[in-house]
Amino acid sequence: MKYLILQPDGVADWPIAELGDRTPLEYAHTPNMDYLASCGLLGMTHTIPRGCPPGSDVGTMSILGYDPRQYHTGRSPIEAASMGVELRPDDVAFRCNLVCIEDGTMRDFTAGHISTDEAGEIIRDLQRELGGDGFEFHPGVSYRHLLVWREGKAGMGTTPPHDITDRAVAGYLPDGDGADVLRHLMAASQRILAQHTVNRARRERGLRLATSIWLWGQGKRPLLPTLRQRFGIDGAVISAVDLVNGLGILAGLEVIRVPGVTGFLDTNYQGKASYGLRALRDKDLVFVHVEATDETGHMGDVQKKIQAVEDFDSKIVAPILAGLHEFTEWRLLMMPDHATPCAVKTHSADPVPFVVVAAPDLRGGRNGSAYNERAAAATGLVVAEAHTLLPEYLVRA
Ligand SMILES: [Zn+2]
Repeated sequence: MKYLILQPDGVADWPIAELGDRTPLEYAHTPNMDYLASCGLLGMTHTIPRGCPPGSDVGTMSILGYDPRQYHTGRSPIEAASMGVELRPDDVAFRCNLVCIEDGTMRDFTAGHISTDEAGEIIRDLQRELGGDGFEFHPGVSYRHLLVWREGKAGMGTTPPHDITDRAVAGYLPDGDGADVLRHLMAASQRILAQHTVNRARRERGLRLATSIWLWGQGKRPLLPTLRQRFGIDGAVISAVDLVNGLGILAGLEVIRVPGVTGFLDTNYQGKASYGLRALRDKDLVFVHVEATDETGHMGDVQKKIQAVEDFDSKIVAPILAGLHEFTEWRLLMMPDHATPCAVKTHSADPVPFVVVAAPDLRGGRNGSAYNERAAAATGLVVAEAHTLLPEYLVRA
């Protein structure tokens, strides 16, 4: 038996007036997704448990069959896994943004989308000046980096910097047990960065400066039993997104790097589909994630989101369906991790449509005419907790 998970990130949406009160999924031309809906089990499910933030980390955990309430510890330890940084059980990982704070105000949580090379120079200098005594700075991509506090504290309150753009940072600094250490590191980084050669060069080019680090998103390593431990299966993950690859690693999946993936409309869809099919020859399960459906929702760009949906249908679902013919027995789960409604340009905790298809018996029990929110709701099937889908419908004995 072969298992496939297709995740169009954030594809679910709300009805949009300019589309005649249809969602992008309803409006878009998606014959392949609709075919799956017509021969599979179609319904709605909740990927974001009550009380959990509607993040991709939480939603993707649900898709992979892990109850976020039991396993979710924060996003940074997941990113640490994807960066290859080992965390011991008592270590705490923090997301370490390079940010631009001006006159006490959070001006830019990306420090002007600072380049990976410039940021790497800064993070290495911060490690030299502030690292040691259980603190380690690890360089990542652009403004996204990692601080590990070995045998550190995790219970303090922290704030995502993208939530406080143009606000005074004073009220949002780390607070609670262990926060004084983080505040000290942030203040010390500001003194170092004020003199840094990277910033001098950026000032000359008229670019936003990296004036400070911002620590948030902390957590200890989540202890996920791997899919092999749970179900005796091996798998692989294909994604352009660190968070998704990190979750895959924690679930015991092999990360397959596809050249030319960007996490956007210009990604190498063909490569993702063909690498995915190839991996399925060796592995029991392949998980293919596409980010463009989420990014276009964040942009609030309805037409681009429709394009992302149609690309997913024609460039991922179509070739994968065609390629699956070489396997006689397979099951496929297709669903997003959360909705990213164009109207709000961010994630929402609404239920999302899912479909499960099993071959060779392609006649499901509760099928619908199309893969979208309305058709899925119309079947009347609601799976209250999305993390039960994988064990109960996909990888069931
Ligand atoms: Zn997402």
